[in-house]
Amino acid sequence: MLPLSRIVFASGNPGKIREVGDIFVDQDISIVPQREFAIESPEETGTTFADNALLKARHAAARSGLPAMADDSGIVVDALGGGPGVRSARYAGEQATDDQNVDKLLQELADVPDAQRGGGFHCAAVLVFPERDVAPLIVEAVWRGKILRERAGEGGFGYDPVFLDLSSGKTGAQMTREEKNCVSHRGKAFCELKNLLLTMRHENR
Ligand code: IMP
Repeated sequence: MLPLSRIVFASGNPGKIREVGDIFVDQDISIVPQREFAIESPEETGTTFADNALLKARHAAARSGLPAMADDSGIVVDALGGGPGVRSARYAGEQATDDQNVDKLLQELADVPDAQRGGGFHCAAVLVFPERDVAPLIVEAVWRGKILRERAGEGGFGYDPVFLDLSSGKTGAQMTREEKNCVSHRGKAFCELKNLLLTMRHENR
């Protein structure tokens, strides 16, 4: 199983690919997006972030024969009873764009007062080994903040322009990738996954 030199990243989302690539840039492990193996994402039929992340990673590991990482993530909004949650990418429809999803969120929250606009991004990050499927590594992390009434910032992706990080006073779209990775759900989950992986490699030397 170890040492590892290549891991497939089971995502077609360029924003996620950049963020996770940044986290592993200091390692001698290449993180190869699944499109380089012509692997398409499976249907996300799970009811939790962890279910869906495992579905995606197992699909990529089975098709490539390599260890595979995936994340499933989304925004969980208090005033929407936890929605859109695992449906974040499809909130405004199956083929919805980021802009359409953000417009729908702003509409749904139009009458929600400022004090009740809390929410958080959730991320389940997983690593599966083709030959060791009974023990996938699974890490979850949350980034809490507030949903704004209008967009601010040009960077990031998805709901970043309307998600305010309270400690910096910036939206996800106003942060550099480095700043976002230090505080974000995905940054925290993949840093922990990386540390687990490095410990396992070290133990197997
Ligand atoms: P997934 O690709 O099925 O995990 O869907 C994740 C969806 O959640 C994305 O399409 C975004 O809409 C949203 N999302 C997840 N992480 C972020 C983030 O870091 N910033 C903004 N939106 C995010």
